[in-house]
Amino acid sequence: MSKTVKRVGVIGGGQLAWMMGDGAKSLGLDLVIQTPQPTDPAVSVAADTVFAPIDDATATATLAAQCDVITFENEFIHLDALFPLANQGVCFRPRLDALAPLLDKYHQRCYLRDIGLPQPAFKVFETPLNPDTQPFPLVVKARRHGYDGQGTFIFKDHKRFQERSAQLADTPLLVEEFIPFERELAVIAARSVSGEVVVYPVVETQQDNQVCRRVIIPAPIRPETEHEIEAIARTLLNSLQAVGVFGIELFLTANHQIYVNEVSPRTHNSGHFSLDACDISQFEMHLRAVAGFPLTKPTLKCNGAVMVNLLGYEYSQNDYLEKRQKLASQPQTYVHWYGKTQSRPGRKLGHVTVLLDANSQKHPQAIAQSIETLWYG
Ligand code: ADP
Repeated sequence: MSKTVKRVGVIGGGQLAWMMGDGAKSLGLDLVIQTPQPTDPAVSVAADTVFAPIDDATATATLAAQCDVITFENEFIHLDALFPLANQGVCFRPRLDALAPLLDKYHQRCYLRDIGLPQPAFKVFETPLNPDTQPFPLVVKARRHGYDGQGTFIFKDHKRFQERSAQLADTPLLVEEFIPFERELAVIAARSVSGEVVVYPVVETQQDNQVCRRVIIPAPIRPETEHEIEAIARTLLNSLQAVGVFGIELFLTANHQIYVNEVSPRTHNSGHFSLDACDISQFEMHLRAVAGFPLTKPTLKCNGAVMVNLLGYEYSQNDYLEKRQKLASQPQTYVHWYGKTQSRPGRKLGHVTVLLDANSQKHPQAIAQSIETLWYG
């Protein structure tokens, strides 16, 4: 019988940890956060905070002394330094062995290949590149520390590649097949300590310049595709014996082929809609899983939803109160503001979810457009 969990340690104190706040409250759990800055979003919802960089394993030992289980909001951790803590009995959920194959994008591709999931062809990037044997467009990715498209490069031709190649010389890279997708999709799935897996509705994600701008819920896909993606999520979480929420990003081609793009061993931007649109949010589901509670299948409380990321578009310390009030005054619209004190272009400052009912006349794309016009002007 495992011990009762009351205090959950979270490595990382950004918006993903901040959004665990409400779920923790309704489950009667305290959050203890490891994060570097007092201004980090999750500090405001934490019962206690260990102020330290997230890859500081000595600080994680301090965190462990204050909680019953440790989870992650961020994968930019120093995994090797955490194994000695696990060996001393610190309980990590997901366990460190489930994270190990995922943190490096090349290792992740190898793992997905080994468990038979569909994905782009890939190899380690080696220079010099032979332009005669290398098809373009060429997708090059940094093996670690990529996020929001930083670290992902899509070169249209050899000339464009050459212009940037010197900058990439010192970074360990992966190269993969370019998938001419019709849509990008994503799914959130969770697995409990006892091995039950629950899966959220598959969503469509829309990226501009490789950064997620909008999510359409549910994705306009065939039921067969939905089932196939649910099966992928189950296979993955069961193979990893993962505990907690995972986000899986996928490509869908015009001839209904599915490819896994990327797996994130944590809550994910593509699941933010669940805060307002589902009976159990991905954040509460994650806490249920890591605290050892049973999981129930999440359901949509509405016909659908549209989630729009509020990205920074300038360098500023503005809190954009007026714009936020304008957004919140739209029908069925919920604004989540992460409370960051600095805005810069591309930075995720908040998000908006608009719920759709059976009478919604407007197309989801038009709803997203009107939110973006209010935000970006
Ligand atoms: P990050 O980890 O920074 O989010 P991703 O690997 O998810 O980076 O890539 C960001 C975006 O780049 C994807 O959402 C997609 O639009 C595009 N992309 C990535 N890999 C491929 C690929 N193999 N083929 C086509 N487009 C890709």
